[in-house]
Amino acid sequence: MTTPTPIQGILDITPYVGGDASVEGLARVVKLSSNEGATGASPKAKAAFREVAENLHRYPDGSSADLRAALAEKYGLNINGIICGNGSDEIISHLIHSYAGAGDEVVYPEHGFLMYPLGAMASGATPVKAAEDDFTTSVDAILGVVTDRTKMVFVANPNNPTGTYISNAEMQRLRAGLPDDVMLVIDSAYAEFVSRNDYNAGIEMVEAHDNVVMTRTFSKIYGLGGLRLGWAYCPEEIAMVFHRVRGPFNVNAGALAAGLAALLDVAHTDAARAHNDQWLAWMQDECNRLQLSFIPSVGNFLTIKFDDAGPGSAAAAQEFLSARGILPRGIAAYGLAAYLRFTIGLEDENRLVIAAIEEFLETTDGA
Ligand SMILES: *Cc1c(COP(=O)(O)O)cnc(C)c1O
Repeated sequence: MTTPTPIQGILDITPYVGGDASVEGLARVVKLSSNEGATGASPKAKAAFREVAENLHRYPDGSSADLRAALAEKYGLNINGIICGNGSDEIISHLIHSYAGAGDEVVYPEHGFLMYPLGAMASGATPVKAAEDDFTTSVDAILGVVTDRTKMVFVANPNNPTGTYISNAEMQRLRAGLPDDVMLVIDSAYAEFVSRNDYNAGIEMVEAHDNVVMTRTFSKIYGLGGLRLGWAYCPEEIAMVFHRVRGPFNVNAGALAAGLAALLDVAHTDAARAHNDQWLAWMQDECNRLQLSFIPSVGNFLTIKFDDAGPGSAAAAQEFLSARGILPRGIAAYGLAAYLRFTIGLEDENRLVIAAIEEFLETTDGA
């Protein structure tokens, strides 16, 4: 070797590509590719962020103390188990770096969030897929691929990009079937959107066990994706590991201030949830009317099936929509090449999407 060489696994990574954000020649696009909250950030969060502009020369509070205290208060948590990150992505990648390396395995469901296999490879570990059951996390399949090399299991609940979830009872059964030294990370990025009686974001499981971590984000219902802010609740011992490896000022001052204000603006969050309930149901009804199949979702997005190939394929639909400024997420990288994922948008955006899909289907019918 005559040049510096990264550790094993890094060069096998296909870099993560975010959702499309613009179309050349179009001034306005309907961006539905990244599950950013349709209704945007709370006005109070924006005001708090603006105020930070007067003190940009000051380092942020490296312990995220006010935000952690507010989270502890809101959810009744042990503040020492709360950690904050530069997006939950940062928390996920530090956890993997700290707990899994060369020779270790990181398990995740077949259509699970791409950050898990990417994080595993960046750490030199081996990502291992577990089959799903009808696009839903399968506890039995996960337990079936766990070996003595498994160090971590990741389950997004609900999952992105499928939108499906498993019940609290199933998550408990998963943990009960894992060896105690395997970490179960429950990624509850979309928890605030879910209103099902048998769903639980994972707080009680974290408190009851030494090997469960729950991650959360301000990028979805709080509409603060641009600021990069996430948090997690974990056993204190795991929190202390994170504090050892994170940057001393990993969360910036604007994110801390806006996140705190967003958390406290309960009315804004309730309105965002109500908006999503209404328009997610409407989108699913419209798909039924158009005889388009979709994966039933409890998140703020809907994954719709197109043809596998030919004029009615997902790729053709994406091109057709993109030419009209409508940007869904192609999810071939998730092994779902016949599907497109649409974030639930504002009313006019949702109506534009359905009208354009209807037009696309008419074009392909005649083809
Ligand atoms: C969007 C998303 C996240 C959030 O990531 P951030 O880094 O907090 O923006 C985490 N997990 C899943 C499954 C997601 O879809």
